[in-house]
Amino acid sequence: MHLADFIRNVPDFPKKGIIFKDITTLLKHPEAFQATAQALFEQVRHLPITKVVGIESRGFIFGAVLAEKLRAGFVPIRKPNKLPAAVYSQSYTLEYGQDAIQMHQDAIQPGDYVLLHDDLLATGGTAKAACQLIEQAGGKVVLISFVIELVFLNGRKELTDYPVQSLITYS
Ligand code: AMP
Repeated sequence: MHLADFIRNVPDFPKKGIIFKDITTLLKHPEAFQATAQALFEQVRHLPITKVVGIESRGFIFGAVLAEKLRAGFVPIRKPNKLPAAVYSQSYTLEYGQDAIQMHQDAIQPGDYVLLHDDLLATGGTAKAACQLIEQAGGKVVLISFVIELVFLNGRKELTDYPVQSLITYS
């Protein structure tokens, strides 16, 4: 099964000049959804993961599937002011301006082996900020996994301290 065939390109979303990689066309297809989950799992099944951290919001989908398959816990990283209890915050630079993400302070403990998951690696700023949150809580980032990698944006240069894997790449 050629998973890239199930990704829809949406030009000029959410703003002009961006080609949005839409995974809803993959998610709605039973065999493509199952094959993606299994392929992501095969990349990590040998690792001693205790927590899977997913980044809001598309990182929650396969992140939760991976956590269940690995028999690990699942931790959401969210946009500011969404999580109800005490949080750690990390801001990061966007193409224009700044954004921030948050994680519950008690979500990760020292000694946790963490798989970080998101749907897509672009410039790497979001994943780097997520790693900083995980490490602030005392966790070790064992691997960062993505469904899609936009290789031409060179996001891996932000993540040189960590192993990175992706399923579908665009050069
Ligand atoms: P970055 O921090 O630049 O690596 O951006 C990664 C985050 O932005 C991920 O959570 C992606 O879901 C989202 N994102 C960035 N670019 C795209 C794109 N072209 N299509 C879909 N999502 C994107």
